[in-house]
Amino acid sequence: MSAHAVTSRAAEVIEADVAVIGGGPSGAATATYLARAGYRVVLFEREQFPRFRIGESLLPLNLPILKELGLEAEMEKRFIRKYAANFSDRWGARQSRYPFARAINRNHPYAYQVERAEFDEMLLDNAAKSGTRVYMPWAVREVLFDGERATGVVAEAMDGSGSLTVHCPMVVDASGRSAFLGARLGFKRDINLNSRTAFYSHFEGVTHDPGERSGDIQVVSFPHGWFWMIPFKNGNTSVGMVVTEEYLRRRGKIAAEAMAAGRLPVVEHDGSNEAVAGKADAANDAFLWHTIENIPYVAERMKGAQQKFPARSIANFSYRMERYAGPGYVMLGDAGAFLDPVFSSGVFLTMKSAQVASKAIVQSFQTGDFSGRHLRLYEKRIRGAQKIFFRFIRGWYDPAFLDLFFYSSNFMGLKTAITSVLAADLFDPHHLWNLKLRINLLFALANLHRLRVRLFRRGRSYVQQLPV
Ligand SMILES: Cc1cc2nc3c(=O)[nH]c(=O)nc-3n(C[C@H](O)[C@H](O)[C@H](O)COP(=O)(O)OP(=O)(O)OC[C@H]3O[C@@H](n4cnc5c(N)ncnc54)[C@H](O)[C@@H]3O)c2cc1C
Repeated sequence: MSAHAVTSRAAEVIEADVAVIGGGPSGAATATYLARAGYRVVLFEREQFPRFRIGESLLPLNLPILKELGLEAEMEKRFIRKYAANFSDRWGARQSRYPFARAINRNHPYAYQVERAEFDEMLLDNAAKSGTRVYMPWAVREVLFDGERATGVVAEAMDGSGSLTVHCPMVVDASGRSAFLGARLGFKRDINLNSRTAFYSHFEGVTHDPGERSGDIQVVSFPHGWFWMIPFKNGNTSVGMVVTEEYLRRRGKIAAEAMAAGRLPVVEHDGSNEAVAGKADAANDAFLWHTIENIPYVAERMKGAQQKFPARSIANFSYRMERYAGPGYVMLGDAGAFLDPVFSSGVFLTMKSAQVASKAIVQSFQTGDFSGRHLRLYEKRIRGAQKIFFRFIRGWYDPAFLDLFFYSSNFMGLKTAITSVLAADLFDPHHLWNLKLRINLLFALANLHRLRVRLFRRGRSYVQQLPV
């Protein structure tokens, strides 16, 4: 990547059309769209790529965007195909596989599993090749305002060797979970979903299903949360768990017991993890392995697996900004909202944000109207898709809904509808009404099922065997 990165030594002031904060998928895709449309785009990324990121399972509707960005052949060369998402209970006794080829629209039968260090670098390289000036590792320190209107940014080289002031009519905040602009403007709101924490690492030697199923994502539900298992082309697998706050409180005790019994996993600490996971690495590893060993479906697949680096963790994840755009600025991807990752919606929503917002930004330039008016449609469309995912995420944590999610037959096309949501096919006006109708039916049936379980099964669900 550094081949395209710009270096600057002195304090400089420049004029541009667009300044982008962050070089993840949302920043890189937006920069590519706008640079190709002929605008002068400057992008700042504070970390040196390639850098680790979690969020490795893409959805089929990501592909048309990657195709637009000219990356279809690269994707096929570098990453493995994911034809389905497989959901399982903790024993593997109840499983529900959703092949994307069985969605309402059958034109998007697969997605990809990607190591983000490579995927994100590929996207940012593409932005640079399209004409974006990439400053890396450089951090944006300030967004400049004239009244309520954003008018530029001030950025600084991470080694202190230079700074740059960019004056521009459009600032794009693609800073991910640090939510640079939204946090400063006081727009950040927690989503009313119980707080949860993720623990994860990469592993060698994890067993996968053969043939076409080898690229499936495995999502395994258990009473304290859920696991993901995402296979990569190089044979490694990303394994992580998302757990409740209540279960998290047991981490110290579990780690102390493992230590006392001499059962702490031996994991090489590479030092770079300290900034992410602090000094609690050993406790995180012990906590992750203890939970793996207690979930038979995961334990079986991970027999003899070797952990590649200390478990990292991210806490309290779901939030969204009160608004995603204003005069002269827009927030994209995780800088706008972050939803629990159980349905792997993050990178898709992020890149869809980039695609939709870029068109609105072009309109702003064409009309000279930077009031945020053109960006309202972007906000409406993205919020619409987030709402559907969010309904499903809430459902995932509702034992009554989960029973239907694991139901094997395609009663009234409900499984087809769920598959379309899992493929992220949420923007096609031809079948959106059909999809929404079936989703409403699904949730109505979940309520009926809840009643049935309460009346006839002593209130315990089938899949989780938890109270509904
Ligand atoms: C536990 C977990 C599991 C997940 N699993 C999945 C999954 O399976 N599939 C999926 O699609 N998504 C998943 N996600 C979500 C996914 O990781 C994100 O949605 C996605 O990375 C968002 O992309 P982005 O471009 O908005 O932000 P990021 O990828 O976070 O990129 C933002 C960039 O901005 C840079 N930056 C921040 N501040 C500044 C600054 N001031 N100046 C310059 N640069 C700055 C950062 O260094 C970073 O590189 C998961 C997330 C979590 C937490």
